[in-house]
Amino acid sequence: MKKTIVIALGGNAIKPAGQKGTYEEQYESVNKTTEHIAKLIETGNKVIITHGNGPQVGDLLLQHDSAKKQVPPFPMFMCGAQSQGSIGFLIQQTLQNHLFKKKIEVDVATIITQVLVDKDDPAFSNPTKPVGPFYEKEEDFAEEKVKGFAFIEDAGRGFRRVVASPIPKEIVELNSIRNVSDSGIVVIASGGGGIPVVNRDGNYQGVDAVIDKDRAGQLLATKLGADVFMILTDVEKVALNFNTPEQKDISNLSLVECKKYMQEGHFAEGSMLPKIQAAVAFVENGGEKAVITSPSKALEALTGETGTIIMNKE
Ligand code: ADP
Ligand code: MG
Repeated sequence: MKKTIVIALGGNAIKPAGQKGTYEEQYESVNKTTEHIAKLIETGNKVIITHGNGPQVGDLLLQHDSAKKQVPPFPMFMCGAQSQGSIGFLIQQTLQNHLFKKKIEVDVATIITQVLVDKDDPAFSNPTKPVGPFYEKEEDFAEEKVKGFAFIEDAGRGFRRVVASPIPKEIVELNSIRNVSDSGIVVIASGGGGIPVVNRDGNYQGVDAVIDKDRAGQLLATKLGADVFMILTDVEKVALNFNTPEQKDISNLSLVECKKYMQEGHFAEGSMLPKIQAAVAFVENGGEKAVITSPSKALEALTGETGTIIMNKE
């Protein structure tokens, strides 16, 4: 059966943790991923793509900060907009090329998307979202820390800068996304969780934050009434006791199990936890199933052969 699938692509799947993040590396990663996404389109599914920008937006912040004597740095939300454009372009071009190769006559288009947040969201005074490069030791980011930037230890992979990550409330361009998607075009939207904006006296204004793409992706999937919300990241399956000798990969999770394991602390904050929360919220809001897997397993996971499937059943 043909499905409407919202795919949320991880920023780390575009720039894997071990890589420097050259244009060529990011092109290659995206090109590989979109080859798998093309298969989902080839099998007749309606696909809407969203993506993260954690590594990219963090790198842009560093670039702006390092060159600030020559070029005035942009606010964080402008870096979000920049990354939406550049990552959207990479996905759009490579996916279109794969579809050409397969002789599938479907267009691909990116919609620059603003996402409304609450200006009083407590996240603004408590940064939690990891962005940018990984640092091995505390000395490696001492200079950044002096500037007042906050850092955390990210899921056993090193230290990273953290920024405010408010809850997405509304997708400003939702109607445009729906209409373009309904016309048969593959839409890339709400990249990097969307450009965070607040509404001040009837005017949208950018705010400095990075919205979690898993949460924003869930909002998009729910609002579009998607059947499947598919989160593609750098693990094939969600695990219990992740990164320990007792690690156990899981194939199926009910909502009750998700909540139990969340409480037991199996999912790291800022990485797997928001994915499980987003998956639960999608299913609770009427979605058929959420799937968490790696890009190369997307098609198999859709038919239940691999990945972790979150559904509302025991
Ligand atoms: P993305 O850029 O795709 O959002 P994240 O780094 O935010 O990627 O989240 C995926 C990462 O979550 C995995 O690479 C893994 O290191 C980490 N992780 C934390 N807890 C778990 C878990 N319980 N099972 C699997 N992966 C986990
Ligand atoms: Mg993430």
